[in-house]
Amino acid sequence: KVYKLVCFIKEGQKALLADYITLFINNQWVDSKSGKTFENFNPATEEKICDIAEADAEDVNEAVKSAAAAFKRNSKWRTMDASARGKILIRVGEIMMEQKHIISSLETLDAGKPYADSLGDVEHAADVFKYYAGLADKSLGKTLSPDGQYFAYTRQEPIGVCGGIIPWNYPISLFAWKVAPALASGNVCVIKPSELTPLTALHMAAIFSEAELPAGVLNVLPGYGATAGATLASHPGVRKIAFTGSTATARKIIALTANNLAKLTMELGGKSPAVILPDCDLDQAALYCHSAIMTNCGQNCCGISRNYVHADVYDEYVAKAVACAQNRVVGDPWKEDSESGSVISEVQMNKILGYIESGKREGAKLECGGERIGSKGWFLQPTVFSNVTDEMTIAKEEIFGPVQSILKFTDIEDVLDRCNDNEYGLAAACFTKDVDKAMYLSHNLKGGITWVNCADILTTQTPFGGFKGSGYGKELGEDAMKEYCEMKTVLMKMSNKNS
Ligand code: NAD
Repeated sequence: KVYKLVCFIKEGQKALLADYITLFINNQWVDSKSGKTFENFNPATEEKICDIAEADAEDVNEAVKSAAAAFKRNSKWRTMDASARGKILIRVGEIMMEQKHIISSLETLDAGKPYADSLGDVEHAADVFKYYAGLADKSLGKTLSPDGQYFAYTRQEPIGVCGGIIPWNYPISLFAWKVAPALASGNVCVIKPSELTPLTALHMAAIFSEAELPAGVLNVLPGYGATAGATLASHPGVRKIAFTGSTATARKIIALTANNLAKLTMELGGKSPAVILPDCDLDQAALYCHSAIMTNCGQNCCGISRNYVHADVYDEYVAKAVACAQNRVVGDPWKEDSESGSVISEVQMNKILGYIESGKREGAKLECGGERIGSKGWFLQPTVFSNVTDEMTIAKEEIFGPVQSILKFTDIEDVLDRCNDNEYGLAAACFTKDVDKAMYLSHNLKGGITWVNCADILTTQTPFGGFKGSGYGKELGEDAMKEYCEMKTVLMKMSNKNS
């Protein structure tokens, strides 16, 4: 079955996109000052979708100026009740659900991911707006008991202009993860979506406009990293940067913010391991780990790319992983039975194929997959390697593709060291029915989130963010609110203190 919506999006595409292909600054749709545009492609067909206005330094300056004006003392946004900010975010979530087929279509068109996955992402993003809407008026301070004739309390204050720099793998979700807590806390935002997937962020700007967000509070600037992104990161008016992307880019951004000492949230890459013990439900482990590396074609920062399987169940596990991979349906993202669509670009496809070659060359056993599918669109076979050892490139580096590596172990202490001996520390999983072992493993695996008997499960309510080379700061959950607030202590002289 092909989604009916394909027809709708193809017929209505021009009309649908026409309004949302320019920059969104101060609630206005504007061309870039330079007049430059860049081409936007559908990775599943390699066809051009449209030209998009390309933001550059001048546009970033303009957007930061309008955001700063919206954040001025006594502005509409600053004087609004916190609950009223929440109501705007609820309205945004509601409009998203009313328009979920349009937003999902844009996402599938732009990112090549299966329509059902896009729909899931949009529903999740709408939930994220509603969740933070509820937290808008619950940003609590404390009253304190200082020594001396004094009284004190703390307050959580918004930081000011927050820049959000977003990658292409989960455009709508990551937009929500950044914008929802930022606005719930009373900040103003300038968002730069990935140059590869700007469509849903631009559509969201229209939704915020419909929800009557005051002008300047949210600005969306499609453009390139080295120009628009770097200007945003180094802008003296930007007090916070929330970045999701590669560790290499993170290093550049950290350097760019050094002058300004902007507060940072860094959600970076990963090489997340799973430990599979012989007493676990092996079918469940194989299915979770398959899904955790093949979903979104493995273009998932917290995908499980290293499977450490106990020698007693190793062969059985490999057979199950191979069966899952061979049964996975890869193809037209608009078809209902497609479980994987295309990867994002030719560059990404070639990078993944390069890693597959290195796996073969360095002596891993290619169990299945390893090839491109077809010649139109960037489709790849789900790939499984067994006999992978720790020093191989595919066991060490982030591939960001549908490539599962299966390694063998016999001793828990040894496997913990092997899992943790990696520059990244985003996530980890363990599979066992023994509660002591589950706690020991989950507490000693170095990852910002550790899953027990499941993998790659992110929820709106639970904080997410890495250790080590995977970055710092948390998104999602209540903790993300703190990332967008500065705590102020107010200390007052009292003439007469009583207990
Ligand atoms: P990337 O780092 O190249 O780009 C991410 C964003 O940063 C894009 O918007 C890009 O335009 C911008 N950018 C690039 N150079 C910049 C610069 N010099 N200054 C400012 N901004 C700049 O990453 P990508 O290729 O879009 O995404 C893939 C990578 O992101 C993967 O390596 C993956 O590990 C990582 N990632 C991590 C997470 C996470 O939550 N930890 C999520 C998604 C992706």
